[in-house]
Amino acid sequence: MSYFLDGRQVRDKKAQILIKRISAFSTKLKLVILQVGNVSESNSYIEQKKFFGTKIGVLVEHIKFPETVSQAEIESAIELNNRDASVHGIILQLPIPARIDWREVVNTIDPEKDVDGLTRENLSILVHGGKGGHMPATARGVLSLLKDYKIEVAGKKVVVVGRSALVGKPIALSLLNEQATVTICHSKTQNLNEETKRADILIVAIGKAHFINESHVREGQIVIDVGINSVGQPSLQEEIPKRKLVGDVFTEKVTSIVDGISPVPGGVGPLTVLSLFENLADAYEKQV
Ligand code: NAP
Repeated sequence: MSYFLDGRQVRDKKAQILIKRISAFSTKLKLVILQVGNVSESNSYIEQKKFFGTKIGVLVEHIKFPETVSQAEIESAIELNNRDASVHGIILQLPIPARIDWREVVNTIDPEKDVDGLTRENLSILVHGGKGGHMPATARGVLSLLKDYKIEVAGKKVVVVGRSALVGKPIALSLLNEQATVTICHSKTQNLNEETKRADILIVAIGKAHFINESHVREGQIVIDVGINSVGQPSLQEEIPKRKLVGDVFTEKVTSIVDGISPVPGGVGPLTVLSLFENLADAYEKQV
C-alpha cells in the first residue's frame, strides 16, 4: 500500500513561510489576473487564486474581458499594468479564444511581472538552466511536492507523460535542471506502458481522466498526477449529474502497486496556486 503526497498539507506549511516573508515587504503585493470570456474551469481556477491571495494578504485584481475583446485591447491592459509600480505580477488565464494568439499576448507581459513563467524570456531561462527567472507554477509545484517529501530527483529516471508548452515541457525541463534523467512521452509514443514502467518518478499531465492504470506502473515508483478532469457521476435520483474532479491516473488501481502517489484533488493543484504566489514574492524582490 502506497502513501499519498499530500499537497494541501505542504501548501499550508509553505503558506505560513510565505506569509511571514511577504509581511516584511514595505508594500502590499498585487497580482492582476486577465481573463477572456467565461470558461467555467477558468472561473474556478481564478476563484482559487483570489481566495488564496486574500488569505495570505495579497491584493488580487481580476480583469474580465468579454469573449469579443480584441488582442490590442488585452495588450494595452497589459501595458498599463506593466507600467504600474503597484502591480507586481500579471497573468493571463488560459485558455483564451483561439482567434487570439495567446503566446503573442503573454509575451507583452514584462518578464519580471510574468509570474506564470510563460514569456519567452522566462522559458528561455528554464531552457538554459533555470536560474533567475520565474518557473511556471505547475513545475514549481511539482518540485515543491517532491522536495517536501524528500524524494531524491538527481540521477533518477523521470518519465513525464504530456509535452504541452504550459505543463509537460516546463515540468520536464525543471526536473532536467535538477539532474534527473528525463523522458518525455506524448500521444505518438509507442508502447507507452513500457516507457512509464521504466520511471522511478512518473509524472502525468495529459488531461485524460483515469488514463494511467495498473498496466503502466510497477512497484517502487512515485507517481505525480498533474491532471485535473471534471467527470460526471450520473445518478437516477438527481436531474443534474454531480461532477467530481479526478486525475489522469486511476488512483484506486495503482495505489496497491506503487510506493507513493499524489491525489487529485489535493496533490499538485494546491501547490500550483502556492507557487504562483511564491513567484509573485520573487517578482516583488526583483522589482524593489
Ligand atoms: P494539453 O495541452 O491538452 O496537453 C496534453 C498532452 O498530453 C499533450 O502533449 C498530448 O500529446 C499528451 N497526450 C494526450 N493523450 C495522450 C495519450 N493517450 N498518451 C500519451 N500522451 C497523451 O493539456 P495540458 O494543458 O498540458 O494539461 C494537462 C493536464 O494537466 C490537464 O488535465 C490539466 O487540467 C492539468 N493541469 C493541472 C494543473 C495543476 O495545477 N495540477 C495545472 C495545469 C494543468 P501530443 O502533444 O502528442 O498531443
